[in-house]
Amino acid sequence: MRYREPVFRPPSEAESYLLPVTDGCSHNECTYCAMYRTKRFSVRPEADILEDIRLAARAYPDTRRVFLLDGDALTLAPKRLVPVLEALRAAFPELQRVSSYANAVSILNKTDAELAQLRALGLSLGYLGLESGDEAVNASIVKGATIDEQVEAVQRAQAAGIKMSVMVLLGMGGAERSREHAIATGQVLSRMDPRYISCLCVTPVPGTELFDAVEAGTFRMITPEQTLVELALLLEHTDVSGAVFRSNHASNYLPLGGRLPADKARLLAAVDAARRGEVALKPEYLRGL
Ligand code: SF4
Repeated sequence: MRYREPVFRPPSEAESYLLPVTDGCSHNECTYCAMYRTKRFSVRPEADILEDIRLAARAYPDTRRVFLLDGDALTLAPKRLVPVLEALRAAFPELQRVSSYANAVSILNKTDAELAQLRALGLSLGYLGLESGDEAVNASIVKGATIDEQVEAVQRAQAAGIKMSVMVLLGMGGAERSREHAIATGQVLSRMDPRYISCLCVTPVPGTELFDAVEAGTFRMITPEQTLVELALLLEHTDVSGAVFRSNHASNYLPLGGRLPADKARLLAAVDAARRGEVALKPEYLRGL
């Protein structure tokens, strides 16, 4: 088994077997993201992937979860993904879930029948970084897909049975578009109606355009207290049929978790309590990326 550093995975994939299928990200242009700046995008040879699966099956035969690396393994055509999914099913009898980061273009490039085929072969969860539902913010961060395209991608994946986990970034609109960003993001989450919503706080990373803009003073970060205002606005405008909501990523100032819509009032009350100073926000030195 071989990994090319750096390797990233969602927090909820901590127990998963991480299988490199591609290296890097085929888009690699989001202005806030440095994850794969040091990796040129490439597709691993099928023989190498299948050999990795054989080795993993020997070492970890009771594997239940597999996460396909790297930034958007779903960019691969079905004819390349199908043999990988088939090999995983054959290698791991107890396999319950195969997941991957999934950007909108990678999903939209597949037909409904192809998405259904991938789901039938075990691909059951995709992680999409919406970051902002505000079209102006979306364009400024060079997300590579319009808001409508991202909504359609989530809806089509879920119609095929692939559950979607959507990530959003508090503060992505900066101080200038804070309110618009928060409201629009809640509204777009409502249109997407994903099964999971993860709320993170934007953190400028050296080597990104966002970091340079913050340094130059052309992007003004919101304060920790303003992230609470955004979180409340976002929750108020999020109307989904049934989703797990989390803001417990290391970057958050106020870790929350619950189900929407059932826990909406409780989550909003927790944000209000924090805004009144009744709950301490996570200190800066305890935050991570
Ligand atoms: S945020 Fe995702 S799509 Fe954008 S550059 Fe980073 S890995 Fe690629």
